[in-house]
Amino acid sequence: MASAPTATPPASPEVGIYCPHCSDLTLHPLARVQESCAAGWTCYRCGKKAGYAPAEVDGTELKRCVCGKQDFYRQKDFNKPFGLILAVVAFAASFLLWAFRYGWAAFVVLFGLLGLDLLFYRMTGDITACYACSAYYRGLTAQQAESFDHETEHHVGPVQHLLDEEKKAD
Ligand SMILES: [Zn+2]
Ligand SMILES: [Zn+2]
Repeated sequence: MASAPTATPPASPEVGIYCPHCSDLTLHPLARVQESCAAGWTCYRCGKKAGYAPAEVDGTELKRCVCGKQDFYRQKDFNKPFGLILAVVAFAASFLLWAFRYGWAAFVVLFGLLGLDLLFYRMTGDITACYACSAYYRGLTAQQAESFDHETEHHVGPVQHLLDEEKKAD
């Protein structure tokens, strides 16, 4: 029996963690995040500690977040600043074209942007994010993760114990 073709291995997972004190985002490869969480997570920007623990990961499946919660959602891994710049440039260009009485060209630019945006949207993959602490995981999936739901976010609530870690350290 011929063996099934091996799927291309996913790029090594990355984890983005937000500092609960200053909201600074640190994005690192999973292995490095696990290390820093095991050693007592400290923010690079404000130098304060937070009660993050290594995430529980089984292969490419995320079982438990660095904050200890297990409520995840899926979202498009879309480069927001890039999309925004694209939109601003297109609107500025179409406004100028409109002002110089090239109305048809303005429409071409606008619809061109719309098409480009849709293309990027279709090309981008999903990331898994945590309801409680907003940490996100690129290259990992969680079995029960659905699209973002405000009801669930309210139910899960923020993670107060992350801040408590700093009080203990003082
Ligand atoms: Zn910080
Ligand atoms: Zn979390």
